[in-house]
Order: sequence, then structure tokens, then C-alpha cells
Amino acid sequence: MVEYFTEALVLDKEDSGDLDARIILYTEDLGKITAKAKSVKRITSKLNGHLEPLNFIQVRLVEKNGFQIVDALTIANSANFKENPAVFFRLLNFIKFFKEMTFDLQPDRKLWLAMKEIVANWLIYQKKEKAIYRLIIKILGFDPAHAACVFCRGKEINFFSPEDYIFFCAKCAIKIPKKEIVLI
Ligand SMILES: [Zn+2]
Repeated sequence: MVEYFTEALVLDKEDSGDLDARIILYTEDLGKITAKAKSVKRITSKLNGHLEPLNFIQVRLVEKNGFQIVDALTIANSANFKENPAVFFRLLNFIKFFKEMTFDLQPDRKLWLAMKEIVANWLIYQKKEKAIYRLIIKILGFDPAHAACVFCRGKEINFFSPEDYIFFCAKCAIKIPKKEIVLI
């Protein structure tokens, strides 16, 4: 049994059985992982409140047939964004995009620091949302500066597909369902 203690951003929380949850974390030391959190749906659970999406936490994990969360403590929570639903919704979309773009167990220091900065200061960064998406795409190795539209090879790209890692110009993006692409 291996134990880890790392900082993490909670990306998502899914039900797993009656009392447990599956938590998707982007951790500083391990990259993205899915970890089981036992009995968090009990009223007496001390863990549950810390494992809300968009929280930054200190987490203790054990690895034995997958990861399990033993302990978690909130460093910064997302409560201040929830007051403004439009801002909060945009952040959730950004986090969903980030989750789609990253692979399990691929830690990336640059990406971790960028996410810490962006999420903590989302009220400022959401005003330059396109630049933020471009930055994340670039850190992950798909530099929009050297990209071309997958259909017409045009250099002026405005959209990106996180599923297929391809770029589109505004004109060609009309052919793609909006929920499958992000504006960059
Ligand atoms: Zn095009």
C-alpha cells in the first residue's frame, strides 16, 4: 500500500453506490486521478464538504486497487464564485474542458501552477476566457499559434475540439455541434 500527500483541485464528484463517491482530482504530484471516497454521504462524514468540485484541497491518498481518499482539507473553496451564476457556470465549463483534455497520472508542474492561478483568480481571468483556453491548449502541447483549420487549412482559428484535439476556423465550425467545441 502506497500513501500520497499532495495538493489537488477537485474536478468532479460522482455517486458510487449508496454512500461512497468517486472524486476526480487534478493533483500536484500525480496529475489527474480518480479516487474513491468512502461513506461521504453519511451525515457525519468529515470529508464530504472538502470534496466539492472547484475546491483546492490537501489530500491524503492510499493506493491499493486504485486510489482512495483517506483525508482531505480545504485550502481554498469556490463559494465566492457561486454568488454569480454566470461566472460560476463559465468556470464549470472550463473545468469540464480541462478534465476532458488531461490524461490520468500525467503530472505537469506548469499546468498545475497555471490552474492554481486561473481558478483562484477566475473573476479576473473569465474576462479573457479565450486566452485562458489557448494557454491550457498550448501547455498541453497543441500550440494554437501554429495551428490550421482542419477543414480549410485556414490560419485564423477560433474553435478547438477537446475530444479530437483539432482546430476550426469560425466558418467551418458551423458544421460542428457547439457543445463539442470551445471558443478560443
Ligand atoms: Zn476552416
